[in-house]
Order: sequence, then structure tokens, then C-alpha cells
Amino acid sequence: MLKELDADSWVSERRSSLDDVSAPVRDIIENVRNNGDSALYEYAKKFDKIDLEDICVSREEIDSAYEEADGRLVEFLIEAEARISEFHELQKREDLWLREVQPGIVLGVKTTPLERIGCYVPGGRASYPSTALMTAVPARVAGVSEICACTPPPGNPLTIVAFDIAGVDEIYRVGGAQAIAAMALGTESIKPVQKIVGPGNTFVTAAKMMLRDYAEIDFPAGPSEIGIIADDSAVPEFLAADILAQAEHDPNSACVLITTDRGTAEATIAELKAKAGISPRKEIIFAALENSGYIIADDLADAVSLSDMIAPEHLSIQVRDPMSVLNRVRNAGSIFVGPNTPVACGDYASGTNHVLPTAGYARVYSGLNVSHFCKTSTVQMIDREGLTEISDIVINLAEAEGLHAHADSVRERLKLRK
Ligand code: NAD
Repeated sequence: MLKELDADSWVSERRSSLDDVSAPVRDIIENVRNNGDSALYEYAKKFDKIDLEDICVSREEIDSAYEEADGRLVEFLIEAEARISEFHELQKREDLWLREVQPGIVLGVKTTPLERIGCYVPGGRASYPSTALMTAVPARVAGVSEICACTPPPGNPLTIVAFDIAGVDEIYRVGGAQAIAAMALGTESIKPVQKIVGPGNTFVTAAKMMLRDYAEIDFPAGPSEIGIIADDSAVPEFLAADILAQAEHDPNSACVLITTDRGTAEATIAELKAKAGISPRKEIIFAALENSGYIIADDLADAVSLSDMIAPEHLSIQVRDPMSVLNRVRNAGSIFVGPNTPVACGDYASGTNHVLPTAGYARVYSGLNVSHFCKTSTVQMIDREGLTEISDIVINLAEAEGLHAHADSVRERLKLRK
């Protein structure tokens, strides 16, 4: 069950699995580059054991996916979409803002959505209709004109419905590294995209990292993780439930309990021992628990430092005074505060995004949000008064750098009245 861990080695261990698959992923990328669609059909047969007739999901197939899917679940997806849209609308910036920062100098920022993006939605060990919403809704809210999506064949009906609810324009039955290669490089059927977002297994994540010269990516979003900061007020049953919920994703998932109280760690382990074996996904859970562990912290300040070193994808704070811990945390993909905020709420329905950086990348990357689908241009408008005001700085610094034409471009304007 959970072993005592060392926060120092955590991140390097989490990243090593990407190196392990780099050779096969490179081969897959080259095959897609050289053989396009036919490589995609070949891999559907090899990895997904499916003889595909067409990788493209037609409108008729989308309509029959609605008929095939459980109507109640479709309703829940529609509700979840509304909540995710609402939260992501709050993140939107003005298309253009301009401010007069001093007389004659107006500065601003123009925000422009990307034109064509690709969403990857996993579908190997579990299906993720929720991830179809999480990847496509922020793109739609940002104003992206073409959203293309790939998910492993045969394409889970509820995932296809979720793509449609989220406003995806093109859906393809392609999984793994080959889907990332197809969206980055293009094939006969799939036009290349400007940016690829979405989580996946180590093959998917390694391909995203390798193809960054062709398409921008969001960030490495690999096997799921949870970090929990708990004190002696935490409920071990809740801690174990959150650990099991994360561990059931993938054998490579990992959970770290950081607690100031050894008794809490022991009670959580006892609870895990009682519950792990009765899950229908127990093989995955036991494998993931092998990558997992607990750390005994000296106090909550120490617990926060340890958690920041790990930079977990999800951080759950289950302590007596959670706000003081929240204020100190620096590195986490998404933060769940208090005993009644299970990570599962953010996975599906609260409205926050569940596509988050893993393997310590939350030290530098933010979870998926509207800004991932936009670029910004700064804008400036300067009149004669403003130009006069800053001319000395520009002319003298330009001359000091030996850029005389820069200096002259200012002098010329001050000399000639317009
Ligand atoms: P997946 O869609 O990522 O991978 C399935 C594909 O992997 C298959 O279609 C196949 O093409 C390819 N594949 C399988 N075996 C292969 C092999 N031996 N060689 C080359 N390619 C192979 O689905 P998955 O495997 O279920 O993984 C989903 C992952 O996404 C999980 O680890 C889950 O934790 C993670 N996830 C992460 C987030 C996040 O935000 N970080 C969110 C949801 C899910």
C-alpha cells in the first residue's frame, strides 16, 4: 500500500516514463508523416484492434450517437457544458483595450483567437466525454473558428455527443501518438492545426512534446495525480476516497498524501486496504498505488513546501484552516479546498477545467483556460505631445546601441510638423 515517499525524487520519476516511449513514438510520427491516413488505419488495427472504414465521424453518426447514448447522461452533459461555459466566459478578456497612460501615449492589448485547434480526448482504458467538454468549450468561448477533435476508435458515443454539445466542427476516430502526429503534420483527411490540447497516456504526451515545432501545445497532461495536504482534522475515509478516485485513472497515476499527523496517514492506509480490492478497477488502482505514497511533514508550512516541490496536478487541502494553506501554495494545477470539495467535482460539474499539467509541470504551466486559445498583440498610438515626451529616452538609448536609424525615425517626426 502507500509507502513513505521522498518529495525530491518525485518529479524526475514522474518524467522518466516519457523517455521510455520516445523511440516507438518517433516511429509512429515518421509513419504518419510518410504515409498519412493509411498509417492511421494501420494503427487503429494494431493498437485499437479495429478495422476502420472511415476515420471521419459523419453527421449521421453523430445523430445516431445521440440515439445510442443514455438520454439522462446527455442531459447531464448539457448541464455540465453550461457550467463549464459560464466559468470560462468569466476568463474572457476584452477583444481590444486601450488606455492613455500619459498625455499623447495610448497603449493597449488586442486579443485574437486562434483559427484552428485540435483537441485530443483519451479513450483507451476509460472514455472521457467530460474531457471533450473541457478541451472544446474553452476554445469555443475564446472564439476559435475551427475546432477539430480526435479520440481513439471506435469512438465512444457519449464522447461524440459531448464533442457535438461543445461545438466541435470535425471529429476523427484516431487515438494515441498517431492522432497527435496527424493533427500536427496533417494527412489527406485531417488538416493541420495551430495548437493541440488535451490529456493522454505517455504515448500521447510524448508525441505532443516531440511535435512542438509543428503545432503549439497546451502542456504535458499525462497520467493523473493528486497531492493532499491534511492535518489531524482530516477524515481518513475522505482522503482514501480521493486517493482511490485518482488511482483508478491509469496504472501510471500517482497519489501523495502529505500530512502533519502520522495517525492520519495510518488510518488512510487502513481505509485504502479495506476499499482498494473491492473496486472493479482494482488492477489499475493497485498499480497506481505502487507509484504513490505519503510524507510526514513537520508542520503545515513544511507540508506546503513539500507540495510545491511535487507541484501536483490536483491539490486537495483538508486541514482545519484551509485558507491559510491556500494562500501559501505556489505550485498546483487545480486546488480543491476543504473536506467537501472532492476532485471529482472539478472533473465533471463545478465548471473549472480538468485538463491540467502533470509530472511537476504545474511549477510553470497553468491548467487549460481560455487564454490557451488566444494570442495577444500590444497596441500603441502616440501623438506629437507623447512623442516629444519620450523622444530623449528613445534617441539616447538607440544611439547608445548604435542604432542610429532608430533615433532618426524619432528626430524626423519632431522636425517635420504634420
Ligand atoms: P489514450 O487515448 O491516451 O491512449 C489510447 C491510445 O494509446 C490507443 O488508441 C493507442 O493508439 C495508443 N497505444 C496503446 N498502446 C500503445 C502502444 N503499445 N504503443 C503505441 N501506442 C499505444 O487513453 P488512455 O491510455 O486511457 O490514457 C488516458 C490518460 O489520460 C490517463 O493516464 C489519464 O489519467 C489521463 N488523463 C489526464 C488528464 C489531465 O488533465 N492530466 C485528464 C483526463 C485523463
